[in-house]
This record gives sequence, structure tokens and C-alpha cells, in this order.
Amino acid sequence: MTLHQRPSLQDVPAYKQGKPAAAGASKLSSNESPHAPLPSVLDSIQDGLANIHRYPSIAAPELTGALSAQFGIPAEHITLGAGSVEVAAQIIHAVAAEGDEVMYAWRSFEAYPSLVRIAGATPVEVPLDAECRHDLPAMLDAITEKTRLIFICNPNNPTGTVVQAEALDAFINAVPRNVLVVVDEAYVHFDRSAVRADGIELFRKYPHVAVLHTFSKAYGLAGLRVGYAISPLDVAANLRKVAVPFGVTDLAQRAAVASLAAIDELSVRIEEVVAQRERMHEGLAAAGYPVVKSQANFVWVDAGEATVELEAKLAAGGVVVRAFPGDGLRISSGTAEDVDRVLAALPAVQEATA
Ligand SMILES: *Cc1c(COP(=O)(O)O)cnc(C)c1O
Repeated sequence: MTLHQRPSLQDVPAYKQGKPAAAGASKLSSNESPHAPLPSVLDSIQDGLANIHRYPSIAAPELTGALSAQFGIPAEHITLGAGSVEVAAQIIHAVAAEGDEVMYAWRSFEAYPSLVRIAGATPVEVPLDAECRHDLPAMLDAITEKTRLIFICNPNNPTGTVVQAEALDAFINAVPRNVLVVVDEAYVHFDRSAVRADGIELFRKYPHVAVLHTFSKAYGLAGLRVGYAISPLDVAANLRKVAVPFGVTDLAQRAAVASLAAIDELSVRIEEVVAQRERMHEGLAAAGYPVVKSQANFVWVDAGEATVELEAKLAAGGVVVRAFPGDGLRISSGTAEDVDRVLAALPAVQEATA
């Protein structure tokens, strides 16, 4: 006899992690920071080790207090999760029930489709436009009476494209006030747009906006799992209910607080990652690859049918990337040496075909 389980999970794929890299290879498959943790962050974790027999504080007052001070937003709006992936899951569970629709662009963050299906809600995927950007008019057209939630991943993972400030404001203004718009800003620190869309500003301006931030990317804490939402008070209250109790460890909370205090040092690293992103973009574009302008810590090669072949070339050159067969390749911005390897592994297209 087979066990009773939720039949709807049959269609849900397990999350595919970026491939691991062999020793010595460049791991550019998961948009992690290429830099080792800062000494001050390691110290903060060291300080917490003696307490790991205790549960962490669920309210995390030091961390929510520090974030509240940084943004000038009351701490009641700020809720945490074990990475902003968990926070995204919380938001879906808090807002959408069976049969409700959750909209996002596609291709976008790999986790959205599974998280929506796991919650029993219905994913509504609106294709990116020809330039791999959110198609906001099409997203507005796709809103129905069942729409409960719209994710805007900005900059978008995996294409690196951004929604411009004015366009995002106009979009949010056109969305009914009973539909929550979540601006997922996992990569916001790498955005060098002339006028950057600012999720926090939009949260302040509109009653139906929430923002997702993570310590995994710019802050380099992917392994510790901490992210947060800034959301309307009634949403925040429900996020606290659906959160897994004690999901964010004390070590993660300490490291996040120490990272906020180390923003000057981290900013230097962020600039370095941005500089290497630009160098990788220019090198690949000059070599004839269809690379998309990115404002995140990776570049997207819109390689289509050539994706698997390029992935193999990169692997042969000691570079592990994230490939979406038939669609494209996402290559995280690593150190200068990592980028050297990428450019060496992908010679100019004319040479390759000559
Ligand atoms: C990486 C990422 C996140 C967050 O990851 P966590 O490690 O769970 O904080 C959220 N959204 C997008 C689009 C991402 O790429």
C-alpha cells in the first residue's frame, strides 16, 4: 500500500543547487561572494559559540534593531527567515491559499515555482521580453481576481536585468491595493543603474509593497542562512506566524549584525565584484557572445541551444557555472582570476567556429 501523501507534490521539482566545484575550480554557479568571511564577522560567530546549547531569540532584537535604524523603519515591519528564500515561502503561505494565483516573470528565480506549488497556490509565469527584462505591461494584463501576490525580482536572477525606477513605480501604482507586490532585492547592492529602483522607497510610498533582502549575496553569509522582509504591519504579523520557529540561528543573527557594522569593508568587496562583472561582460561581448547587461553579481549569456556546449567548455577550463539547457548560462562574478578563467575558456566566437 502506498502512503497517503499530497498528490500535488508530484509536479514539484526538488530545488536544484548550483553545481559543486572540484578543488581548484572556480565555483561560479551560485552567486556567492568569492571572498572569505571578514575577520570581524568570524569574531562575532566565535563569540556566539559558547551559547549554541541555547535556542536563538525569535525576535532577534539586535538584528531587527540594527536594520530598523539603518532604514528608519519601525522594527515591527521587519521579519526574518533562514535566508530570504524562507521569507519568500513565508510570504506565499501568508498571502495565497489553494487556488490563488502568484505571479512572477519567467525566467526568474528558480525557487519561485516550487515555493508557490508547495503552498498549493497556482503559479502564473509571465515571459520576459526579448531583452530578458520583466514585461510589466504583460504582467498587469495577467492580473485576475485570483491574483494575491506578484514577485518582481530586481535585479532579476538569472538575467541580471533591472526594472527602472519610474517603470516600477508606475507598475505598483497600477496594481490593485489588495494585491501584494514583493520586490525581491537579493542583488540590489550590485545595481549601478543611473536611477536605481528602490524597493524601500516604494514600501514607504505604497500600502501593498514588501521588500526582500538577504545576507547571502553582497554580505557573503550564504552558508549561515539569514534574510528578511520589510512588509506592511498586518503582513509582517502573519509572517511571524508562518515562520519556522527558531529558523534563524544566533550565530547567523550575530554575523548579520557584524556585517551591517562592517559595511565599509564590504563595500570595497562589492565594488570589486561589480568591476569583475563589468570586465566579464566586456570580455564576453567582445568575443561575440550574447551577454546581457547585468546589474547583479553575475552575467547571463543568452546562449539558447549553445548553452550545454558552452557549459562544457567552461567546465574544461575549470569553471563551474549554472546552465539552463536551451536557454542560457549564468556565470557569477568571482575574483579577477575566476574571470580570467572564464574569458580563457570562451575564446572569440569567430576563432571557435573557424
Ligand atoms: C539568492 C537569492 C535569494 C536569497 O537567497 P537566501 O540565501 O535564501 O537568502 C532570494 N532571491 C533571489 C532572487 C536570489 O537569487
